[in-house]
Amino acid sequence: MKKVHLCLAHMSGNEMKYIQEAFNTNWVAPLGPNVNAFEQDLERFAGEDKKVVALASGTAAVHLAMVCLGVGKGDDVICQSFTFAATCNPAVYLGATPVLVGSEEATWNMDPNKLEDAIKDRIQKTGKKPKAIVPVYMYGMPAYIDEIMEIANRYEIPVIEDSAEAFGSKYKGKMTGTFGRFGIMSFNGNKMITTSGGGALICPDEATKKKAMFYATQAREDKPYYLHEEIGFNYRMSNVCAGIGRGQMTVVYDHIKHHQHIAQLYADAFRNIEEIKVHMAPESYMEPNYWLSTVTFEKSRSNGVYGVACEPNDQVMRSMQALSAVGIESRPLWKPMHSQPVYKDAPAYEDGTSERLFQKGLCLPSGPCVTDEDVELIVKTLKESVVL
Ligand SMILES: *Cc1c(COP(=O)(O)O)cnc(C)c1O
Repeated sequence: MKKVHLCLAHMSGNEMKYIQEAFNTNWVAPLGPNVNAFEQDLERFAGEDKKVVALASGTAAVHLAMVCLGVGKGDDVICQSFTFAATCNPAVYLGATPVLVGSEEATWNMDPNKLEDAIKDRIQKTGKKPKAIVPVYMYGMPAYIDEIMEIANRYEIPVIEDSAEAFGSKYKGKMTGTFGRFGIMSFNGNKMITTSGGGALICPDEATKKKAMFYATQAREDKPYYLHEEIGFNYRMSNVCAGIGRGQMTVVYDHIKHHQHIAQLYADAFRNIEEIKVHMAPESYMEPNYWLSTVTFEKSRSNGVYGVACEPNDQVMRSMQALSAVGIESRPLWKPMHSQPVYKDAPAYEDGTSERLFQKGLCLPSGPCVTDEDVELIVKTLKESVVL
């Protein structure tokens, strides 16, 4: 039986050339020509005159962005609650408090109204402003970033866009990750493109890039010996991994087109099925990469359980099992951070929207290895699994 995965790494065939180059020139280190060239590729891709630092992971990029903003012990960092743990864990690494903000129904991302409520309430409670705001582009879907930036600018709080899932998504024609002070890219094995493991930090200018590089290379001062005045990290990307990244960049637009094509196939297939709703861009000015296609079972019954005990409903579990039985991988949506045991005591500004979505949502295969025929089988299996 053929296995169909959510998003499997897919090599272009050009990767080996760059990896071989690294070996031939003995640049087998966390720096070198591939790292520099990959960063240039990423800067060209992001546009807007941004500078990019290639790193060991997307999580490292989130962490470094917070370090560069001076996040420390006792600070608040506002994070979207409906996300993967890597968005807010770095705040905890730094001794800060993640303040979890709920989502709106249209994009599933940070609700600008709840964001402003959170800022006001935290200022009132702690007497100081949060140090950063971290919205996320879940499954590649842009957020209402203009509205979020307007609030952030009004309160003068810098924004770190967690664009780890949204490599190549656009908002009003501009790449996500280029709106805030910092943007996050991830090249983990299951993301839009891969370096086997890796990430990058989008910086506003050369000086900020230098600062990020300084922290990413153990905060070594400019001396012939090792002098340290600050705490740093070993976060640079390997020159071998960057070779994979350069190869991936030769097919990045094909990958994005393919993900968008698969999403459109799902949308067309379920157009007249009331029960199954495909999550598509709510605004014409949002162009998601559709990293993963997602559906919600609109008539499935909520199990009415919120908070830590919140779980996917019976319909989601039934559909997952039906897909699994024919070799197809699927997965519930991210369990919101405010409903995670580890974050149950974090301040949260939530109205249950993300938990309701989590209860009734499912991620479907979308990667470069998914064929039109695979989608047909997935659609047929899903339709059969629905119990009204
Ligand atoms: C994958 C991901 C990250 C972290 O990226 P890694 O490269 O896996 O460390 C951060 N945020 C979100 C939303 C992600 O999906």
